[in-house]
Amino acid sequence: MQLVTLLGSTGSIGESTLDVLARHPEQYQIYALTANCSVEKLFEQCQKFEPTKAVMLDEDSAEKLSKKIKEANLNTKVLAGEQALQQVAEHSAVDYVVAAIVGAAGLLPTLSAAKAGKHILLANKEALVMSGHLLMQAVEKNRATLLPVDSEHNAIWQCLPVGDKQRYHFDGKGIRRIILTASGGPFRDYALAELEHVTPEQAVAHPNWSMGQKISVDSATMMNKGLEVIEAHWLFGLSNQQIDVVLHRQSIIHSMVDYVDGSVLAQMGNPDMRTPIANALAWPKRIDSGVVPLDLVEVSQLNFAKANYQHFPCLALAYQALESGGTSTAILNAANEVAVEAFLNRQIKFTEIAKTIAYVLSHQTASSGETLEQVLADDQTARELARSYIS
Ligand code: NAD
Ligand code: MG
Repeated sequence: MQLVTLLGSTGSIGESTLDVLARHPEQYQIYALTANCSVEKLFEQCQKFEPTKAVMLDEDSAEKLSKKIKEANLNTKVLAGEQALQQVAEHSAVDYVVAAIVGAAGLLPTLSAAKAGKHILLANKEALVMSGHLLMQAVEKNRATLLPVDSEHNAIWQCLPVGDKQRYHFDGKGIRRIILTASGGPFRDYALAELEHVTPEQAVAHPNWSMGQKISVDSATMMNKGLEVIEAHWLFGLSNQQIDVVLHRQSIIHSMVDYVDGSVLAQMGNPDMRTPIANALAWPKRIDSGVVPLDLVEVSQLNFAKANYQHFPCLALAYQALESGGTSTAILNAANEVAVEAFLNRQIKFTEIAKTIAYVLSHQTASSGETLEQVLADDQTARELARSYIS
């Protein structure tokens, strides 16, 4: 029996993970579920899965949840706050930590899991974008395992040499480059001028995937692919030049590895996050995920096109931040989080997301990013700069 802590259980990845776990009750048991402030949803999950602990970031929400748990006579202990998130991520009884909190808030509990040597299923790409250097260092030093849940990185992981325990290092494996596929989001066929007027409702309506609000907007700007380029850089030790992006509107090929002998290995499947989640959970074995088998005749076509930086300036900004190094990618991430929130609150236009990030990147000096304090300080400064630019 493997014990699992699921950080961000009420989100899109959280719910998909619970769906997979519920199919294998003899293999996995839940130690802790966590959420920001969704009391009702977390309570329902506690009723169904009876975790040892439930953590809410928000104190008031934790009190409400605690009351409901008592009334229902459940054996779950309710905790509150950031410290508690870290505690359930590093607890000695836990084997697997699923990092499915959205944004910068996921960094500290993910780092705690790495320092405690856990098997980490990483969905929270922002943690690697903010401090890839520190997180990878903590993983290697403490013999943790970082298993990518992001579908593209999970695809790459599956296309790497079988039986290779050192999957984080590409050296000497005959790999030329990786190709990350991108659907292009809901606005891939829009003319540039039309992008000025798109609404938050249109931006979160992704054509192929059902996801949380923030990542849905990131997919519409293609910052999501930018963040994934940075994520791939840290996960697999690749340079910018070895990471290509190609538009692939069907989201059937989830990414590819191009080897020096001309072989290109791809991983395919229906666009359903339960596949990479099940793969990372059971690796190196395979378990049922509940995903419908792929019907290639029904898909009938696989199309590919170049990603245009004029249409998707956020993608270019991400490559630029990666090239600059140090905390530049943390600054990019923080400015993006503030800009996306402002767009969702109708404070700025869709096209102003990229402008806000470009402004912050060009007005803030990055540091080396060798300490957590530097990363967190530069993250804060970037948020303040982005807010002042927006207002
Ligand atoms: P979501 O918004 O649906 O869920 C976020 C979860 O995090 C919720 O449980 C929420 O309660 C919790 N949370 C939010 N803010 C928090 C805070 N400050 N402190 C503690 N908990 C907090 O997001 P999602 O779509 O599930 O995405 C989660 C992560 O996975 C993101 O980093 C995203 O980029 C990544 N990801 C998602 C998908 C997908 O298909 N949804 C695919 C690949 C990667
Ligand atoms: Mg992805």
